[in-house]
Amino acid sequence: DTAIAPLAAVAGADECAPLADGTEIAYANLDYAASAPALAAVAEAVTTALTGYASVHRGAGHLSQVTTRRYEQCRETVRRFVRGRTDDTVVFTRNTTDALNLAAHCVRGDVVVLDIEHHANLLPWVSRETGATRIVTARDTIEATLDAVECELAAAPAALLAVTAASNVTGEVLPIGRLAAIAHRQGARILVDAAQLVAHRPVSVVSHGIDYLVFSGHKLYAPFGAGVLIGRPDWLDAADPYLAGGGASAAVAVVGEPDANCASTAWHTGAARHEGGSPNVLGAVAIAAACEAITEIGFETIGHHEHILRNRLDAGLAAIDGVTPLRIFEDAPDRVGIAGFDVDGHTPRAVAEYLSDHHGIGVRDGKFCAHPLLNRLGRPDGAVRASFGLGTGSADIDRLVDAVGRLAVPHRADAHRPGTRCAGT
Ligand code: PMP
Repeated sequence: DTAIAPLAAVAGADECAPLADGTEIAYANLDYAASAPALAAVAEAVTTALTGYASVHRGAGHLSQVTTRRYEQCRETVRRFVRGRTDDTVVFTRNTTDALNLAAHCVRGDVVVLDIEHHANLLPWVSRETGATRIVTARDTIEATLDAVECELAAAPAALLAVTAASNVTGEVLPIGRLAAIAHRQGARILVDAAQLVAHRPVSVVSHGIDYLVFSGHKLYAPFGAGVLIGRPDWLDAADPYLAGGGASAAVAVVGEPDANCASTAWHTGAARHEGGSPNVLGAVAIAAACEAITEIGFETIGHHEHILRNRLDAGLAAIDGVTPLRIFEDAPDRVGIAGFDVDGHTPRAVAEYLSDHHGIGVRDGKFCAHPLLNRLGRPDGAVRASFGLGTGSADIDRLVDAVGRLAVPHRADAHRPGTRCAGT
C-alpha cells in the first residue's frame, strides 16, 4: 500500500484542471494510451535540435550535413531500441496508421488479422486490392487464439499475419514471439502493431522473429507527427513509392517529347523510397530521444513501476460494486497500463465527464477505434479507458479509484476529494 512516485518528469505534470464548482485541482492524466505526455528529456532534445537545422539529404552546407547525419542517426537509435536487424529498413512515417498504410501498400497476398485490432491494423488491409483480409475472432484464451490463428494460416496460404502486441482496450499483451513462430511455420511473415507496447516492454525484432514492426512517437513520450515502420527491405523495395515525389526519386526524365505526358523515373530503394518530400526531422529526433530516455530508465524499472500501479488499479476497481473490467483473454499473463471498464447505470461518456468535471481526471471513453472488439464484448456504446505510464504515481491511481467509487456508490459524501487544490482556488 506504499505510495509510488512518478518514474520520470513529463510535460503537463503541473497542469491544473478546472472543476465544475469553479475551483481548480491538479490534473491527473490517465490517458497515456491515446497520447503519452512528452518526457522532459524529449522536450530538451527537440529544443536543442530547434536551435539550428537545415534541409536534410539535399544541401552541401554545414547545417544541412549536420541535420542529415542527425536524422540518419535517429534511424540507428530506433533500430537499436527495438533490436532490429542490420539490414532492416527504418522508415519514418507520420504515425502507426501511416506505417500500416505503407505496409498495406507493399504487401501482396492474403493477410490474416485478429478481430481485436485497432482500426489502424484493420482498415488498411481490408481496403487493399492486392489480396484478401481474413479476420480471425480471438478466443477466450490466448492459447485457443493461437490455435485459431494457426488453423487459419494453415487453411490457405497467406502472405502476412498482422497482429497487435498489446490491446489498446484492455492492455493485454500478446505473445508475439509465439505468433511469429506460428506465422513462419505456416509460410507467412508477421507484422506487429507495437503502438501500445514499445513504451512499456522491451521488443526485440530479432529474438521475437518479427518481420515488420510499427509504432507511433506520441505513445512513446514523444510529440505528435512521427512514427516508424521497421522491417525487411525486399517487399518495401519491390513496391511503388508510398509517396511519389522528390526524395523518393533517384532520376527523373520526361519522355516522348515534345508534349510529353509521361515521365520515366528511377526510384530509390531503402527508406528514401517511401519518404517522399521533406521529412519530419524533429519528429525523428524526438522519437530517438524517447528511445534513449526509456533505455536509460530501463525496462525492468518501467515494468516494475507499471506492475505495481496496475495491481493497485485492478484491486481498487474490483472492490467497487458495479464496475466491470473489460477483458479479452482469461489467461493473459501480462497487461500494460491500460484498463477498460464500465460503471453500471452510467454511460461511458457520463463517467468520463464526471471524472473530468468533478475530479480533474482525464480518461478516454468510446470504442477506442476498435469497434469489432467492443461490439463483440457487448459494449456497443463503448466503455471507459484509464491508462498510465512513466509520469503516473500511485496518487493518480488512488484518485481515480476514489472518484469511480463515489460515482458507482452515490451515497458516499462528495467531500474530501483527494488531489491537490491549485493555488488561488
Ligand atoms: N494501433 C494501436 C494498438 C493503437 O492503440 C493506436 C492508437 N490508439 C494505433 C494503432 C494508431 O496509432 P496512431 O493514431 O498514432 O496512428
